[in-house]
Amino acid sequence: MKNKYMPMADYCKEYMRYLGIAKTERRSFAESVRLLEKAGFKEISTFKRLKAGDRIWRGYEDRTIMAAVIGKKNVSEAGLKVVGGHTDAPRLDLKPRPLYEKGGYVFFDCHIYGGIKKYQWLVRPLALYGTIVRKDGSKVQVEVGDKPNDPVFLISDILPHLGYDQAKKTRDEFFPAEDLDVIAWTTYAKPKKDDEKGDSEPKADKSALVEFLKKQYKVDEEDLLSAELEIVPAGMPREVGFDRSLIAGYGHDDRVCSFAGLQALIDAAGSVPDVTASILMCDKEEIGSMGSTGMQSSFFENTVAEIIERQEKDARDIMVRRALERSSMLSADVTAVADPHFPDVNSTGNEARFHKGVAASKYTGGTSKSGSSDCGPEFVAEIRRIMDEGDVVWQMAELGKMEKGGGGTIAQYMSRFGMKVLDMGTPLLNMHAPCELAAKDDIWNTYKAYSAYLRD
Ligand code: MN
Ligand code: MN
Repeated sequence: MKNKYMPMADYCKEYMRYLGIAKTERRSFAESVRLLEKAGFKEISTFKRLKAGDRIWRGYEDRTIMAAVIGKKNVSEAGLKVVGGHTDAPRLDLKPRPLYEKGGYVFFDCHIYGGIKKYQWLVRPLALYGTIVRKDGSKVQVEVGDKPNDPVFLISDILPHLGYDQAKKTRDEFFPAEDLDVIAWTTYAKPKKDDEKGDSEPKADKSALVEFLKKQYKVDEEDLLSAELEIVPAGMPREVGFDRSLIAGYGHDDRVCSFAGLQALIDAAGSVPDVTASILMCDKEEIGSMGSTGMQSSFFENTVAEIIERQEKDARDIMVRRALERSSMLSADVTAVADPHFPDVNSTGNEARFHKGVAASKYTGGTSKSGSSDCGPEFVAEIRRIMDEGDVVWQMAELGKMEKGGGGTIAQYMSRFGMKVLDMGTPLLNMHAPCELAAKDDIWNTYKAYSAYLRD
């Protein structure tokens, strides 16, 4: 056995620590940079020339990152091996002008990010994380809801006693998206002179909250126009069941695969690979990989060009194109595990199961495979060999039955370069819920799979 892996218990403990910290893509980015630098990786611009064994990372807008261990063969000649996942997760974002008063409350007005079932976000403790940027460019970090004495936030729902009308509505209709707003403040404003009889409607004091934000964060209400504030579930990842075989946590999709790639790359840095080994931890996958930090951007190509330029003093277009076409990738994203209470959505005989290891999907997409890159059998065979030689427990699976739905990953955006791409990631129960479930042994085998691939 040529590969050595971190033991399962140690790996899962470290993953749970990371998952508790990385509640947003920016926090994942910061923690990833910290771990990479600790392992000897340096930001690419600090290198004039790159040689085999060098460890580099390159980030974009503090949200998307690529890291690599430079191989013996030049990238333009041999391409790269990539493990590519994402670190954004479904959540609620604060709107640009988030503060409003209604019926004695001050709310944060929220906008849905990614595919959620709205009802799952009601009546549960929520945390607020993000960055506010002042006009002078200075930034303030907001992190509220996970430290023991922090307050949390909450979206309320009607009591069952008065919920008869609500109960008649469909899942999508019974709670309007525009009402997914968190309670931010309820202290009443002091009544004005003419209100003092007490018969006027109580008014929560928005100006007191604005005053509080000014004192706490040194920001004005106007500064919220240039903020990226995210409402995410409060609380830390936990073990599930008396056998502690599962881990519950927010954002397994796709931090479970992204982190596995990160650890696998750090492992790979222990020796000099033939082919450059790399990882991508990207942003915006949950909204279609759009934007400058999503995988429909030029970030990946640009980073490859930056590497080539430092290997060959030149990075002509054809060299970059050759590098991309000679590359291969494991699209590191989660898939669905069979849910015993919903058997009619499982692709019978082709469904993923807990404790059967990391799951490969030859294609994702919907009923007609639309939106899928459909990996060629040659690359699937190569991965089968690597998994067997690396002692990795793995399964082949489809997301679900035809005509029941579908989903995609970044595979389609990477395969357009001509790269060989296979989807391979951790199977999850209740994917996209505020608290997702994954099995420890599958989590561990995901890391082993990426490690075996990058070191092959
Ligand atoms: Mn995903
Ligand atoms: Mn997802």
